[in-house]
Amino acid sequence: MTGNRSAAVRDTAQLVSTGRLPDGRRIDALLAEAHGLFAGETSGIVADYIPALAAADPTWSALSVAEANGARHSVGDALVEFSIQSISKAFVFALVCQQIGHRRAAELVGVNNTGLPFNSVTAIELNDGHPMNPMVNAGALATTALMPGATPGAKWNAVQDGLSAFAGRRLELDIAVYESEAATNLRNKSIARLLESYGRLAFDPLQTTDVYTKQCSLNVTTEDLAVMGATLADGGVNPVTGVRVVDAEVCQHVLAAMAASGLYERSGEWLYDIGLPGKSGVSGGILTIAPGKGGLATFSPPLDPAGNSVRGVLATTWLSRTLGLNLFASADVHRTETP
Ligand code: GLU
Repeated sequence: MTGNRSAAVRDTAQLVSTGRLPDGRRIDALLAEAHGLFAGETSGIVADYIPALAAADPTWSALSVAEANGARHSVGDALVEFSIQSISKAFVFALVCQQIGHRRAAELVGVNNTGLPFNSVTAIELNDGHPMNPMVNAGALATTALMPGATPGAKWNAVQDGLSAFAGRRLELDIAVYESEAATNLRNKSIARLLESYGRLAFDPLQTTDVYTKQCSLNVTTEDLAVMGATLADGGVNPVTGVRVVDAEVCQHVLAAMAASGLYERSGEWLYDIGLPGKSGVSGGILTIAPGKGGLATFSPPLDPAGNSVRGVLATTWLSRTLGLNLFASADVHRTETP
């Protein structure tokens, strides 16, 4: 490699993302427009396999953006708290990558899509007991088991403290949702036991499932989620508090895992249409990250058959285009740049 070429490669390695978000007033206007456009959409079903989730109001609808410089924008029911559910998986994976390194985390948990539902037992059997990726329940349980701490209480504290650092405020447990899921999560307990039988779970299966159930029951608003996403977009520094939560290299790999598997069996379609890493949860939240730019969070409880919020997917698809976020979209810079 010539000196010039290696200098060019070094320089390119500094470029983490291109472009900017529009100015704040334009973001506010686009969020308001997206909220109005999709508020009348009534398809989808509120999750009830965790009984407490069925109490959600199907008309709730909120959108928030947190910019990588810390500025925040919200419309709709942005003060409504809801349990974070599966969106927690991305952040616990980030904390584990920070502890044991992203390579070891990928070896132990995996980063490939299963193409099967999030709580599939078949996926574990088809893959020789490997949990496959951190965004499905098997991989999330394997990830939670890897959290630091020798006792369930210590692991839970590390999860709660870590997710709170991403959000920039203390996140609290929704006791009703936790108790409701803890009373009905036989399938997750079975998944943890199956992983144990393959020697793929680093901690006690029932205690791991309990910590995982608590992590899913932490309450957030869309603004919290947007700030959590902006922290991943900002190289691991929470742009509101200024606190470094994880290293930039961790963010890069977590975002890649989200892009591969964050939207259940619709992950490929999501990437094809929206072109961004994202993670959804069964309580109706979706978090999308534009690296270097910020986080976009949506909340609306009615879900499509794969478990993704119907209004959330519609609004994010529209905003990805109008805010100019799609990572795969490019303009012809030679023709559009002013000399
Ligand atoms: N706590 C939920 C479960 O394990 C999370 C599912 C989700 O949001 O996808 O079933």
